[in-house]
Amino acid sequence: MFQFDTVAELRAWVQGCRQRGERIALVPTMGNLHAGHIKLVTEARALGARVVVSIFVNPTQFGPNEDFERYPRTLDEDCRQLREAGADAVFTPSVAEVYPGGHQVVTRIEVPQVSEGMCGAARPGHFAGVATVVAKLFNMVQPNVALFGCKDYQQLQVIRRLVRDLCFPIEIIGVPTVRETDGLAMSSRNGYLTAEQRAQASMLYQILSETRAAIAGGSREYAALEQVAMARLAGAGFAPEYVCVRDAVLLAVPTAADDELVILAAARLGNTRLIDNLTVSLRHKG
Ligand code: AMP
Repeated sequence: MFQFDTVAELRAWVQGCRQRGERIALVPTMGNLHAGHIKLVTEARALGARVVVSIFVNPTQFGPNEDFERYPRTLDEDCRQLREAGADAVFTPSVAEVYPGGHQVVTRIEVPQVSEGMCGAARPGHFAGVATVVAKLFNMVQPNVALFGCKDYQQLQVIRRLVRDLCFPIEIIGVPTVRETDGLAMSSRNGYLTAEQRAQASMLYQILSETRAAIAGGSREYAALEQVAMARLAGAGFAPEYVCVRDAVLLAVPTAADDELVILAAARLGNTRLIDNLTVSLRHKG
């Protein structure tokens, strides 16, 4: 596996791949890799493409009081996992390489509508930071296809909209969420949880599953279901931030015509913020 720290080295290698007629798949990450990230790599490999994994803890998507400084950085172990998973190259740029003019004042990409509400409301500027760095990575790597996890569902929809609006010739693939055996969505932030919090954490998935079961069973009182789920989370020891039932594409409040929905939630256990979501299809259910 190659490791590149600079855009110039990466581009030279990508150019060689292209000349051999190979396709390039990009998997953007912030490192501290787990089985969810590795699933993106194996899906990328299955496409028959050369797989580039970027590891970059992007300062512009963290708020001033968030965990940028303490975000886990485990490059050696990440590279070991990527080699084992068959990645072709890992791109590990510095902040200065990604933001040559400094990261405080940069050209920024704001994706409307899908960025608003939920994590967009709770983390002002977060999705502009994500959209900006993903657009930069797309320009640096120029992949044919890029893979993202459905775990970060709002982020995935932001990126789909970014690609459409800015005419990036890149296919976006959403990969289903990889979970621990008790249902907890794998996340680099799970490592922040104490043993007691870790035991509580799977309730987030269980409460989302109950909400999904209620909708699948015919309930259309979405606002009431959100309130019930918020109360259930509080009762399970979380500080719930939001539970929202939305249409699966625009993330707007569903109308009677919407039959592909997603239930999204964010909640804190102590200082650790967890997010998760489940999709619900109402097609063929009358
Ligand atoms: P991150 O390193 O948290 O920025 O995540 C990098 C990519 O991995 C994003 O596209 C995430 O959505 C995806 N990802 C993170 N956790 C999971 C998971 N449990 N299952 C599937 N994909 C995931």
